[in-house]
Amino acid sequence: MERLRNTDIKYLKGVGPKRGELLTKQLGIHTCADLLRHYPDHYVDRSKIYRIADFCDEMPALQVKGRFVSFATQGEGAKMRLIGLFTDGTKAMEVVWFKRIKAIRDSYLPGTEYILFGKPSEFNGRWSMVHPEIDRAASPNLATGLRGVYPLTETLRNRNITSRSIYNMVCALLPRCADIADPLPAEIRSQLRLMSLGDALRAVHAPANNDELQRARLRLKFEELLYLQLNILRYCRERSEAIPGFRFSRIGEYFNRFYNECLPFELTGAQKRVIKEIRRDVGTGKQMNRLLQGDVGSGKTLVALLCMLMALDNGTQACLMAPTEILATQHFDTISSLAAKIGVNIKLLTGSTPKKERDLIHSALADGSLHILIGTHAVIEDSVQFRNLGFVVIDEQHRFGVAQRARLWKKNSVAPHILVMTATPIPRTLAMTVYGDLDVSVIDELPPGRKPVHTMLRYEESRMQVYRAIGAQLKQGRQAYIVYPLISENEKTDLKSLEEGYEHIREMFPSYRVAYVHGRMKPAEKDAQMNLFASGEARILVATTVIEVGVNVPNASVMLIENAERFGLSQLHQLRGRVGRGADQSYCVLMSKAKIAKDTRRRLEVMTSTTDGFVVAEADLKMRGPGDLEGTLQSGMAVDLRIASLATDGQIVQLARDCATKILDYDPTLSSPGLYGVRKEMALMFDKSHDWSRIS
Ligand code: ADP
Ligand code: MG
Repeated sequence: MERLRNTDIKYLKGVGPKRGELLTKQLGIHTCADLLRHYPDHYVDRSKIYRIADFCDEMPALQVKGRFVSFATQGEGAKMRLIGLFTDGTKAMEVVWFKRIKAIRDSYLPGTEYILFGKPSEFNGRWSMVHPEIDRAASPNLATGLRGVYPLTETLRNRNITSRSIYNMVCALLPRCADIADPLPAEIRSQLRLMSLGDALRAVHAPANNDELQRARLRLKFEELLYLQLNILRYCRERSEAIPGFRFSRIGEYFNRFYNECLPFELTGAQKRVIKEIRRDVGTGKQMNRLLQGDVGSGKTLVALLCMLMALDNGTQACLMAPTEILATQHFDTISSLAAKIGVNIKLLTGSTPKKERDLIHSALADGSLHILIGTHAVIEDSVQFRNLGFVVIDEQHRFGVAQRARLWKKNSVAPHILVMTATPIPRTLAMTVYGDLDVSVIDELPPGRKPVHTMLRYEESRMQVYRAIGAQLKQGRQAYIVYPLISENEKTDLKSLEEGYEHIREMFPSYRVAYVHGRMKPAEKDAQMNLFASGEARILVATTVIEVGVNVPNASVMLIENAERFGLSQLHQLRGRVGRGADQSYCVLMSKAKIAKDTRRRLEVMTSTTDGFVVAEADLKMRGPGDLEGTLQSGMAVDLRIASLATDGQIVQLARDCATKILDYDPTLSSPGLYGVRKEMALMFDKSHDWSRIS
């Protein structure tokens, strides 16, 4: 590999300086080694020939075999295109070129048999293919079996660098794969029965068959994930050694009094288990960094409160941070009333806390008389100094990155324990990577007596029926949310649709008061409207997704989501979580325009088929890929995975994690000679993210 890594791509046979530069700029391929690591993103079966007569919607790129009947140009100047009429005997289609018209016209002859490879598309009942790959049917070099299709850019295509050209370049390198030294220790390879790197690279580009391809991909994915896990775990270990934590050795007065006298209901089994996990963590003397996943309504707040009381019992202060003012206020109200009887001093700090109040809070924090601080980002400002902060709860973690958490650690000479809570459940394997520096606890049980929310997908034409059903719920004394999409709170048109919606709803339900909130309102106005709804005075709340997180009105039994097709699955799930909080049956209606793409419908149907947040999250990942979540990953453990997918390769992530743990147990610094290759590959992979490991 070393030699390939030192060979500039332009020196490869058939590349040269010009194409070399293009490959570098467009695909980040600098060296021959980079080219070998540029994997096909899918494969097509070149042994199969399709019939044009059998074409149907949404076919992938495929092969047809036949002859050109005629060529003709259409349009002029820059708009000129060349159209070849091509038939395979079952039906004719058009082959279209926008570029290199003259050259193409000269190279293909009517009457000669060709094999075309491209993606068919249909317009007005006619099939066509744009810029297909073309081979003479009689060509000796014709690919058979599986052929990789390489990711390309538009610029490369325009410069006539095709998937086929990449393949040809790669082929020039394949004979050298045999000499590539394997960075993975032989023991690991033989234990997991992995292919050698050289074999895997050859097979991933030119697989003999599907079985070989799968084995090659497994090997390459495993390797990539192993480096990722090693990097994460090494960081965690370094941190836990460098940063001591509070040892909470006792359960005392606050916790016990609350538990015995104030607990409004029996904890669920899952809540108890999680509290035990946390107790064990905070008793070790190491700083805890734990992610608490629990579906909406699973009762995370109570767990948070019990943990904070544990901190107070051990002579420290606690703090809870929420992403929005509404949520922070709500937490403050809930927690204050839960803990009213046990004499804990709790205060709320947000951006709109008046200066005078703020000063009081600052001094009470500093002298230790304030026990629990609840608030928004305002609590991590530098001016906020605690006497002795021992425990921090962060609600809805996805808005707080590693760096922000690190700021919290510095609030004290001893780093406080940190519990991040999320209602966006993500599969464990993904959690262990994206939030790889966190231990994970899961509340996988809802409090007893909840009825699953009945979810349905409805189209515009049944709007009146939906309104009648909502009317029936209102008549029974229940309340309804009606949510409009607001992609950006600044978009005037969106706001307009919300305002119109509000007027419309008032007309449709004239006998009920309708409250109205969106993110651009002044906090006071917003609170007033929210309170109208929370108190039951307003029976309908027309809103944007500002109500997505946390709002708790158990009497609400209907969630109507307008333009549901514009929401992501996890957002829909969050919204749905606003209802079903009481003992009665609740409903969630996804209203969508009738004409939606198949994928969109499938997405919405996930919602109607399950209320389990983890199932929703898995489905979301599979359909959409881990997008946002990998965005979170960017905040630190940033790497572009070339072949593995956090969304679908969960089992391999687990394998890699286990293997990484074993390696680090045996050699925490990866300095033994047997790990030279691993160290080297990791250095290459993580070069950019060095500063990250120094955040703490
Ligand atoms: P989330 O996990 O979404 O933050 P909350 O903490 O807001 O959930 O709890 C949702 C609702 O369930 C609240 O009204 C809370 O009082 C109630 N709750 C929490 N734990 C239990 C329990 N063990 N038994 C019954 N109700 C519970
Ligand atoms: Mg909550």
